[in-house]
Amino acid sequence: MSTYHARAIVLRRETWRDAARLYTLYTREGGKLLAVGRGTRKVLSKLGPHLEPFTLVDLHLARGRKLDTLCGAIMARSPEPLVADDRRYVAASFVAEALDHFVKLGERDEELWRLVESWYADAAVLPEDRLMPRLSVFVWRLLSHLGYHPKLEACCECGKDLRYEHSRFLPARGSAACRLCPLDERALAGAETLDGQAHAEILAVLEGAAKMPLHHATIRSSLALLESQLDRPLTCLPLVRVHLAPARATLEARLAF
Ligand SMILES: [Zn+2]
Repeated sequence: MSTYHARAIVLRRETWRDAARLYTLYTREGGKLLAVGRGTRKVLSKLGPHLEPFTLVDLHLARGRKLDTLCGAIMARSPEPLVADDRRYVAASFVAEALDHFVKLGERDEELWRLVESWYADAAVLPEDRLMPRLSVFVWRLLSHLGYHPKLEACCECGKDLRYEHSRFLPARGSAACRLCPLDERALAGAETLDGQAHAEILAVLEGAAKMPLHHATIRSSLALLESQLDRPLTCLPLVRVHLAPARATLEARLAF
């Protein structure tokens, strides 16, 4: 039986046959993969405690005909700070659910690995008021990396340059429009008004130049774009929006000074 090593973030676990669990993992070596952990539901399981959701873990796996099996696991970063705090837990769960939704099995992708690994590392230590801006950066980059890079520089209807202007972000189209062009209801689903600063901020985030956006519209637009690309709802998305609300006053206060 051939075996291999992989570094992974545990995205999800579910009950499997007997005392086993089925794990959804995002790995540096092989992208998203499923693996069975035998005996991991037993109280004295040696593997189980290293495989809690959001753990960064070094794995030893055996290839199977249908599913690989976990032979060994050593925790590299504890998920404890993410699990102990409600807002961090919601954000971490949302990212795991989004990755499971958008990413196909078995496609190695080093850039995506760095994006995912650095998000979980940051989410564990960032001050609470930085969590949602950081999550928004992750969402913009994830979607852009997966091919949903929005076109924001010019109005999608009349071609007018939108920099330094008020505009409308249209998640359903993955583009933006000026304030004057008429649009139908479908194009306007989930639309977000952007002032010149928020518009510039989104462009900077997409270029990798802005690491901590301040505009609430930047954050809301990232979630709206993600939602527009879903083919089924994500359980954690409404929770993220609810937990985002208290941050609004802080963000706007910071912008006012
Ligand atoms: Zn226009």
